[in-house]
Amino acid sequence: MFSQILEYDESLLRALHRVYGTRLQDFLHAITVPSRRLYVRVNTMKIDPGELIDRLRSRGIEVYRDEEIKEAVYFPVKGPYKVDILEKVVYADKYASESVYLGSDLYAPGVIDCSEDIDRGNEVTILTPTGIPIAIGVAEMSCSEMKRSRQGIAVKTIVSTYRAPKIRNLVEYRDGLIYSQSLPAMYVAKLIQPYERNDLVVDMCAAPGGKTGHVVELSRGRAYVIAFDHSKSKILEMKRELERLGHTPFVEVWRADSRYLHVDFPWLRPTKIILDPPCSALGVRPKLFDRKSYSDVVSASRYQWQFMKTAIKILRKHGLLVYSTCTVTIEENEAIVERAIEEFRCIEPIEIRCSRGSRGVWGFYRDYYLRFHPIEHDTTGYFIAILRKTCND
Ligand code: SAH
Repeated sequence: MFSQILEYDESLLRALHRVYGTRLQDFLHAITVPSRRLYVRVNTMKIDPGELIDRLRSRGIEVYRDEEIKEAVYFPVKGPYKVDILEKVVYADKYASESVYLGSDLYAPGVIDCSEDIDRGNEVTILTPTGIPIAIGVAEMSCSEMKRSRQGIAVKTIVSTYRAPKIRNLVEYRDGLIYSQSLPAMYVAKLIQPYERNDLVVDMCAAPGGKTGHVVELSRGRAYVIAFDHSKSKILEMKRELERLGHTPFVEVWRADSRYLHVDFPWLRPTKIILDPPCSALGVRPKLFDRKSYSDVVSASRYQWQFMKTAIKILRKHGLLVYSTCTVTIEENEAIVERAIEEFRCIEPIEIRCSRGSRGVWGFYRDYYLRFHPIEHDTTGYFIAILRKTCND
């Protein structure tokens, strides 16, 4: 049904069926469309959320406060609008398509092909790499210019399938007052209350720093925070983001392979750990094209287990570990956490109480976990669990 968009092998579909059962098709549809709300987190160290809303509204931007998280505000996503296929077309790459789908203009580097006879001023349809129409716009370049240019707008978008404000173009973004983050991701840092006396918070897979930045804001710069990541380029991106938010003085950013923190930093004994490891990202939306197989899930879960073991080793007695992913498979979520509880005698799950989301879908402790489902909650697909260490070894 979604074969033009989602290329998932049989085994992966079976794994998803274990989570969604008869609602599998609804789930697959939901991840191809955006949530109705586009969330940003307000940097409360710089501005009060109410004040931010007033500023945006005074410029005619529609924006609302979240019902529960006071630092969360959202912009309604409009659509879907119908997009016809005109005679002249431009193919955008996957990355550019995802922005155009929500109303951005198409920049020349994102063009992969175009009808040869396109001239400036022509109306064209923008298509994804697999030929799905996502917007109609006016060409600002001829086809040959589009292919040659390394910068500039190739097509100015008039109608797109969905429409939402361009966060990165807002002055509030430039001034570090907001950070793009999904609603479920905002619960992760909040749930471990990282502002108690003597808190040492370690974010094991931190870049680009979404949760790290949230910890800084929740603790108002008082928690000692160490953000680890392995990727040089992502660390640079994280440093830029922390700088934009004004958080640089409050975070240590260290490059390391976090699977070996217990070996490389034997003295490290955090009171709180955020473990948000790489995952198959099946809950991230909207997807315009995604090719994955069950083996991706298996290798992600092996990797996640390595981080989990290390996290448990370095966590201080009575410390809290929050484990989260933006994916939906049991293998990468409940199964990792249940295995930790089973294999480490000093680890116990903490029941998450939250008015949002729903419980885990598998395992003895399933009622302790928090899940967000694209179908039910209209959010990113997300999983959160909290573990506490009860002894020192
Ligand atoms: N927590 C982040 C998102 C993390 S995405 C946020 O909220 O913004 C997963 C991150 O894990 C990526 O940045 C990736 O570079 C990092 N990563 C992957 N393998 C790693 C390893 N072995 N050690 C440390 N970080 C790793």
